Amino acid sequence: MATIGPATNSLESLEKLCLYGIDIFRLNFSHGTHDDHAKVYGAIRTIGQKHRIYPTILADLQGPKLRIGTFENGQTLLKEGEMFRLDINPEKGNSQRVYFPHTEILAAFQVGTLLLLDDGKLKLEVVAVEKTFVDAKILVGGQLSDRKGVNVPNIMLPVPSLTEKDLKDLDFAMDLGVDWVALSFVQSVEDVEKAKSLINGRAGIVSKLEKPLAVTELEPIVDASDALMIARGDLGVEMNQEDLPGIQRNAVKVCRRRGRPVIIATQMLESMVSSPVPTRAEVSDVANAIHQGADVVMLSAETATGLYPFEAVRIMSKIVEKTEFDTLKALESEDFSPQKMVLDAVCVAAKDAAEYSDAVAVVMFSDSFEAACRCARLRPRIPVIFVTESPKLADKVGLCCGIFAIVAKKEFKTEQMNRTARYIVSELKCATVGDNIVVLNNISGNSVTICEM
Ligand code: PEP
Repeated sequence: MATIGPATNSLESLEKLCLYGIDIFRLNFSHGTHDDHAKVYGAIRTIGQKHRIYPTILADLQGPKLRIGTFENGQTLLKEGEMFRLDINPEKGNSQRVYFPHTEILAAFQVGTLLLLDDGKLKLEVVAVEKTFVDAKILVGGQLSDRKGVNVPNIMLPVPSLTEKDLKDLDFAMDLGVDWVALSFVQSVEDVEKAKSLINGRAGIVSKLEKPLAVTELEPIVDASDALMIARGDLGVEMNQEDLPGIQRNAVKVCRRRGRPVIIATQMLESMVSSPVPTRAEVSDVANAIHQGADVVMLSAETATGLYPFEAVRIMSKIVEKTEFDTLKALESEDFSPQKMVLDAVCVAAKDAAEYSDAVAVVMFSDSFEAACRCARLRPRIPVIFVTESPKLADKVGLCCGIFAIVAKKEFKTEQMNRTARYIVSELKCATVGDNIVVLNNISGNSVTICEM
């Protein structure tokens, strides 16, 4: 997945991203205007039509991101041991105070509440709370500039995860027709349920794991969502960084067990924002995400504002391809083993049939997102071509690892499906005469057939 920004928002750049291996495009509603997002959306759909592919588009809502106001000189220096005030006076701030335009949040602060400013670079502890301000002691000081973010890790914030801005953005994204909506700063299942009732099936819901409270409520949140994003940027501010790898590993397992697609996000190839080659540690991070079973690895600033967006995608694609090939056996662990349900029975049958007949592709006729998830979860070693009558579903299944979508008229009869499957794989050039393919019918009952080309 690539985040789109000024470095990649032209038609030519978006097409290049697609050809270099991007399947999912992230419109980040923390930045840009509706007009900007509409242009990118239109360009991606045009590219999809041109190449007869189904790119997936995700709208990432900003959520209740807290920010301070501005300073007389654009910035100030906070010194360790001194006091600093956050208040509701909209005037420009100085080294003693700054505007904090979130009255309802101020009311939730208590003596002892930790405030992390500018992605956690500065750390303050609340020592006095009044109706119109809080005074905080500076534990870790530094430069603080206009509109920097404030994270409050250890209290339940009295805010809905959808702000007024999010509601407007959501309406707009629904009118555009995005396939997925990502919810930022989810704190509870109720946050997900609220979004679900507004979205009403028009897009899938990705919950972003970036609050400590969501980590403690992980399983119910994953159950309520269609997919999860491990948003390591804010999560790493709100929690100890050394806890992140364990949280990531566990969250991937939780998603894998349930067959929910899982995205690993943030700083995957961060050094490539300004360098044409990644660090060894970054290469390892991307590979480890695949080893663990992530469906999606995401680029943020690397493709939104970086100097080397296409190199970053090319390198990430290479790491993914190499690692997927090496890792499939290792993924046949407990978390991936089939569960007792008809869908798993038929998907395992297709996977085994493919393996023992040396098939080169599985062609899956289905109307069900759940079926795509259950199949992707087993990580078949060969491409799975998901054939659906619904362009909307074809766009959506891009989030499932290894699933490639095609839109075709619905078939009900096995013989006709087999003929269509042979035609599709030869058009896609993934099989030639004499090869076997496996056809999975999830439309009229459930059945698996091995066909020779
Ligand atoms: C993150 O915090 O890791 C993240 C993906 O969210 P955002 O980029 O919206 O801050």
